Amino acid sequence: MKVRIEEGERQRRRGESMRRSAKKKLEIKIAELEAILAKERAKAQKYKKRYQRAKKEGASTTSPRTAVKALLGRQKAHLDPILNQVREQHPDVCTLHFFSDAPATQYRQKGNFFHLSTEPFKYGFKQISWHFFEASHGKGAPDGVGGALKRTADKIVAHGEDIPNAQTLYEKLKGQENCSIDLHFIPESDIEAKPEVPAVTAVKGTTRIHQAISMKPGEMMYRDISCLCKWEEGTLDCSCFNLQKVSLLASDQSKVHVKEPIKSWRPEVIEEKHIGEWCVVNYDNDGYPGIILDVEEHSVKVKCTHNKGINKFCWPSPRDDINWYGDWQILCLMPEPQLVNRRAFSVEPSVWKYMEDQLQ
Ligand SMILES: [Zn+2]
Repeated sequence: MKVRIEEGERQRRRGESMRRSAKKKLEIKIAELEAILAKERAKAQKYKKRYQRAKKEGASTTSPRTAVKALLGRQKAHLDPILNQVREQHPDVCTLHFFSDAPATQYRQKGNFFHLSTEPFKYGFKQISWHFFEASHGKGAPDGVGGALKRTADKIVAHGEDIPNAQTLYEKLKGQENCSIDLHFIPESDIEAKPEVPAVTAVKGTTRIHQAISMKPGEMMYRDISCLCKWEEGTLDCSCFNLQKVSLLASDQSKVHVKEPIKSWRPEVIEEKHIGEWCVVNYDNDGYPGIILDVEEHSVKVKCTHNKGINKFCWPSPRDDINWYGDWQILCLMPEPQLVNRRAFSVEPSVWKYMEDQLQ
């Protein structure tokens, strides 16, 4: 009898001690989660304050990523100082090779290709070859440069210095002793002051292009894969990988060798007169048909549909998807889509094909 009581008592105690330790563990877990939550709240508050401050000061509230994308669209602004420098420091150079990530947006394509096949010639260069790496490929010099700058910036911040804007970042990086990377600061005003790209011929299958070559102003050759097999003989335009040729100046149609005529898919600038029209928004390389609700300088407000499958779109519910986009994010204008059932609609097959060609 006594033995049984002791056994029961022992079990009860063991159970209680297990419950206590489980409770303790949960309490620790809750405290941890609360700490994370507080941290996230503080972060959100910081970003909110930063946004409001920027808005109050009339500064740009666009995210740095959006701003950089717009900058890349206006290639010329950031090409100028580099072309100048190479010309001055290495006057014998006549062939230029550029290495960059892939051209993604339609806006970038036009500006990029046009400037690439005109600007360097103005500085006296004779041949230009531009190699586009796929995203997260070509880990070498280009990524190394970016990585080195990022690490340096991290180090500066870790030492307690603030980097509130691009100008400061530039000055601090420039001030580093062993910085062997050439940096150029391009103020926003410079980017905006650059003239627009004239009407140029669209190039087919831009997202597949990995090498663009120009040996004559306004003329460009391109292929899906880079080739430099005759480079040592001074030839960039070997016929490998189906080299194509295109004249980018619309006025020079006689020399155009594009496979089929391409009509213009979007106006040079989206204006107020386009309010109410349908367009396709390029968001992170996905196409979203939508209606233009408003237009302000370089920005377009669009009510977007969501994709529900192959050429199938519908309005999101319960909430509308209305946002401001950069002008360059408008891939093209399009006719009103057709309803395929009560909720979903399809865009014209030609528009769908264009979206597929331009976005990957
Ligand atoms: Zn070749």
